[in-house]
Amino acid sequence: MKILIINSGSSSIKFQLMDMPSERLICSGLVERIGYDDAIINYKPNGDSYKQTYPIKSHKDGLNKIVELLLDADKGVINNTNEIEVVGHRVVHGGNSFSNTTLITAEVKEKIHEYAALAPLHNPGNLEGILVSEEIFPSAKQVAIFDTAFHQTIPEKAKKYAIPNELYEKHGIQVYGFHGTSHQYVTEKAVAYLGMGSSKIITIHLGNGCSMTAVKDGKSIDTSLGFTPSNGLVMGSRSGDIDHAVIFHLVNNLKYSLDEVKTLLTNKSGMLGLTGKMDLRDIEAEAEKGNKECILALAISTYRIKKYIGAYIAAMNGLDAIVFSAGIGENSSVIRGLVCSDLEVFGIYLDAAKNEVKSSELREINKSESKVKILVIPTNEELEIAKQAFDLLN
Ligand code: AMP
Repeated sequence: MKILIINSGSSSIKFQLMDMPSERLICSGLVERIGYDDAIINYKPNGDSYKQTYPIKSHKDGLNKIVELLLDADKGVINNTNEIEVVGHRVVHGGNSFSNTTLITAEVKEKIHEYAALAPLHNPGNLEGILVSEEIFPSAKQVAIFDTAFHQTIPEKAKKYAIPNELYEKHGIQVYGFHGTSHQYVTEKAVAYLGMGSSKIITIHLGNGCSMTAVKDGKSIDTSLGFTPSNGLVMGSRSGDIDHAVIFHLVNNLKYSLDEVKTLLTNKSGMLGLTGKMDLRDIEAEAEKGNKECILALAISTYRIKKYIGAYIAAMNGLDAIVFSAGIGENSSVIRGLVCSDLEVFGIYLDAAKNEVKSSELREINKSESKVKILVIPTNEELEIAKQAFDLLN
């Protein structure tokens, strides 16, 4: 069964075509800068790689261009769009309505539209991708996989904010959590690797967006992103945890508009706010040269992660494994080293040499005497989406 996985953002479409259940990747690609005359398409069929620039006005144009490439006489990988039996769509916010992958119906689309109020940067693009894909692949089954679904097992004591109850009951103001497909994918890998009947794991997803999840017996019981993907850890350009009174001070005394505050905390804060740089590779290189701001930013971001580790050990009354994943978690030995230092009290001992090993495989980087396993597990959200879509339909 050929499954096309679509991750449609506000100005980009990531795609992968996968054969299931063999899990063979047929091709992958990315359309960026939708809406511009110089939109960029990266297309990787069967080990080759092509990069081209086109004017792409809309998601519809973008998806049509993807289909053109898939059908291309030279670079193509299918003969007919009917070969694609399933399209799996990543959807960021599913509110409380979806704890599982689901076939897309008119009602599902309505809900995704409704939750756009809670994820204005993500859900509209996700929905656009679904609508266009229904037109282009009319015979395919359309399936939605929600970033929030894995966190639906979080108990009320962890998901309710201490604000008047009616805001939770009538307006759904609560912790939803995000990066669910990633946390779920690495959890499944870690549980299989540990081979334990019951387990207590902390999964740490560190990419441009960052989040941590406490996973007990394979289920999310708490997570650091909340009502929107802005809470918790220090991210590329998002502040993470901050005293909400800072917002009142910015508005009332420093005369920021609410939109300016939103832009400040979402697009100008985090590592970018602390250093003027967003890519961790640049920040690490500067820190290496002695740049004080960059050294401090690494300390601030990893200190925050350590605080959450402590909190989640308390929440689960123990810990069997820590999992690092995503762009930073998989690649930065510096961040892993800072996070795992001075945690001996919890039985966490990093092996410095193993931490430096570069690999794209699951690996264990703790010392042999460490009570807690420290694992690096490359995440694969697209494969998780394909697996869930396949399982739903078989
Ligand atoms: P993601 O959102 O998972 O694609 O992660 C993207 C981020 O990972 C980039 O912005 C970089 O900061 C970081 N990253 C990728 N490769 C490396 C590396 N080799 N060392 C440090 N950070 C990296």
